[in-house]
Amino acid sequence: MTETVVENVEILIIGAGPVGMTLHLALAAGGQKSVLLDRRAVQTQQGDPRALALSYGARQLLEQINSWPTRAATPIETIHVSQKDGFGRTLIDRADYALPALGYVVRYRDLAGALAANLSADAVLSAAEILDITPGNQHVTVSLRHAGQLRTIQTKLLVHAEGTPGDDPAVSVSDYDQHAVICEVTPTPGHHKRAWERFTPDGPLALLPLGDEYSIVFTLPPAKADAVMALDDEAFIAALQTQFGPRLRFAKPGKRSRFPLALRLRETLVKAKEVWIGNTAQTLHPVSGQGFNLGIRDAWQLSEILLRNGVDCSSLASYAASRRLDRQGSAFFTDQIVRNFSNDFAPLKLLRGLGLLALDICPPARHFVAKRMIWGARAWP
Ligand SMILES: Cc1cc2nc3c(=O)[nH]c(=O)nc-3n(C[C@H](O)[C@H](O)[C@H](O)COP(=O)(O)OP(=O)(O)OC[C@H]3O[C@@H](n4cnc5c(N)ncnc54)[C@H](O)[C@@H]3O)c2cc1C
Repeated sequence: MTETVVENVEILIIGAGPVGMTLHLALAAGGQKSVLLDRRAVQTQQGDPRALALSYGARQLLEQINSWPTRAATPIETIHVSQKDGFGRTLIDRADYALPALGYVVRYRDLAGALAANLSADAVLSAAEILDITPGNQHVTVSLRHAGQLRTIQTKLLVHAEGTPGDDPAVSVSDYDQHAVICEVTPTPGHHKRAWERFTPDGPLALLPLGDEYSIVFTLPPAKADAVMALDDEAFIAALQTQFGPRLRFAKPGKRSRFPLALRLRETLVKAKEVWIGNTAQTLHPVSGQGFNLGIRDAWQLSEILLRNGVDCSSLASYAASRRLDRQGSAFFTDQIVRNFSNDFAPLKLLRGLGLLALDICPPARHFVAKRMIWGARAWP
């Protein structure tokens, strides 16, 4: 019987999604090698239907690793925030921040493609199946099947970037009882680089400019999402129009997809020689587009600590501490918006209207919210 050869790598990253690839490339830019491992073949990412709103801060980080998908990115110049059948609205304008854009909208597949284009052929084990993970004193040992072969890898540091976790006792789950139905629609007149966030009793409705289209995130209770998924195109547009109102007309809906929504927070980010980043560390509601923007900051912060200290797991405690404010702040912010804005309770509706009005007429408060979305915790005083 032949013995499986044990390979040694300094850093093994499980999950070659946008967060895992960002970490790999940021480490490589500082001269640190790592290996990515994914259960999907790289080309399956091309089938992901999501469009992501990326902050200006995320663009700056992606530019540093030559992975900004310039031609695929649509700038957001203004964001209009309002509530259905209620008063109060806020307009956030890039002109107030001396930035070329507040953020950008990019298809997940274009972002993944721009990152993957910078990976060397031996950087990724794709279509790999993990069979076992055994933590040890010196290494973590990972057994896997890849290209029909059994392999054993010993790594000094195992980074988990597998995306949204399934059932895992280490992760707290708070279900929103909402599903996101997403698709692209053509607006008339054009979008003029404006994003909309419209709060409705069913959940938030977001319109993100993407090329000539709007990418929509239509949030609904599960039973209504079932019904909306089953509608023909004409009835779907009518349902969208009812939720949004008459300011724009929509046509030509693309293929619809849906995602169940919950807040998932991992209690512990670091355990001995393992660390969790991106959606596997925290999965947020897509309202205000925080998820990947937070994940890229996780990857960046971890790469900076590893490049500064070497692959020394004793420095990982400082990683967990350095991410606390950003991840807890982002989770709290999105959670409060979803819970306080997704209802028709009259006193709350009044408060929401007053809040939106106050943000609009009080520039410091509006700037704080806008900067928080652009820079994350760096915007905190
Ligand atoms: C409807 C919707 C809209 C969103 N809109 C926005 C937005 O506007 N802005 C924003 O910033 N964020 C948004 N997000 C969140 C964003 O999609 C995620 O935060 C981001 O994709 C997380 O990246 P990731 O690399 O951590 O995980 P993923 O993108 O999920 O990638 C994880 C990778 O790990 C691999 N993997 C999983 N398990 C294993 C395993 N056992 N072994 C090997 N490989 C494995 C997967 O195949 C995958 O390639 C949205 C999410 C949804 C659902």
